[in-house]
Amino acid sequence: MAGLALREVALLYLDSSGSLHKFIADCALYNDSKQCHAVYHFYICVNPSDLTELDAKLGNCVIHDPVLAAKLFQSVCFISIKTLSLIQQLETESQVNVVLKLTHLPPLPYYSLNLCRFPRGYQPLRYYLIEGLVTAITTVTKYTQGARFLCSELCCPFSTGFKYIRVHTPGATESATVRNDFTCALCNSPLKEDLKYRVLGDKQLIEMIDPSALGVLKGNAVSGSCSRYQSFTVFLRDELPNRMKMGNRYCVIGIPVHIYNGSQVTLCVEANSIQPCILKDPTSISDNLKCLLSATAFSPWRFTAILADIFAPQIVPPGTYQTLKFSLLLSLVQTCEKEKQRVQYLDLLVVTGDTVVVDRLLLR
Ligand SMILES: [Zn+2]
Repeated sequence: MAGLALREVALLYLDSSGSLHKFIADCALYNDSKQCHAVYHFYICVNPSDLTELDAKLGNCVIHDPVLAAKLFQSVCFISIKTLSLIQQLETESQVNVVLKLTHLPPLPYYSLNLCRFPRGYQPLRYYLIEGLVTAITTVTKYTQGARFLCSELCCPFSTGFKYIRVHTPGATESATVRNDFTCALCNSPLKEDLKYRVLGDKQLIEMIDPSALGVLKGNAVSGSCSRYQSFTVFLRDELPNRMKMGNRYCVIGIPVHIYNGSQVTLCVEANSIQPCILKDPTSISDNLKCLLSATAFSPWRFTAILADIFAPQIVPPGTYQTLKFSLLLSLVQTCEKEKQRVQYLDLLVVTGDTVVVDRLLLR
């Protein structure tokens, strides 16, 4: 009964937040394609504050029990699809895969992940906010997002249909989705995968470190507070790969999980959403430089020109290639705040013995 009440609130939230419209539009795309899929994938954006305001129990469930919350929304979406006949091809509830995307977490210490204090033993999966610097990025590879299994016993009713659909769940390894030792719940025969229905998604691994580790690298004294400078791995899946850049700082909402690799256990974070951390006053810039910046604020060029004279006189003799030096310096000092405009940048490398032509080319 409690589950029913939560489903009703979930539907109310979908309607009031506008997510229901998007969900219906996504269903229409699937329906119009007429193609039969093993898994129908839906992203639903959830604002935990709005949801908690509407119903504290459901809000609490989304933040603290993501697996149960995804099941509740899965059930609501399945009933909606069936009631409104949104996708003709859909057969079973397990074919509906709902991923809830959180806009934020409550800004309270309980939700930020401290790797020193994080319990190493068994604990329920839930969301944390973790801040870090990107130190390594892998290439984007594929992983199994969903798969269809069939009973190998031809007389069994589950040798056809979409009874056995397995989808990736946060923190699970590939072998949890696809393996060859699953058995039929009805007749105990081995299940075999129907490979033509396998759904692949993008995956990228990111190494991050605690931003306070930078202070240690610069030779600053270690503060009394507990810090862990060992990097940790963040899993980016589906639409998240290629959203992080080397050296930038990000806030990741994710679920910490233990990954077992032989006898080794590693703590990883499965990302749900990522946001760049914009620092108004980065601590890595010295006071002298900040003074220089404020003293030259009246001119858009003066600060860069002074930096060019101080740091780059050996590249080319003073007085030549000033525009090129400005461009290079400006592109070096760009921060993640300008991330969205990145596509507009022009990367330039000029190698020549003829200084006159390049000088003229670079003049405005
Ligand atoms: Zn069977």
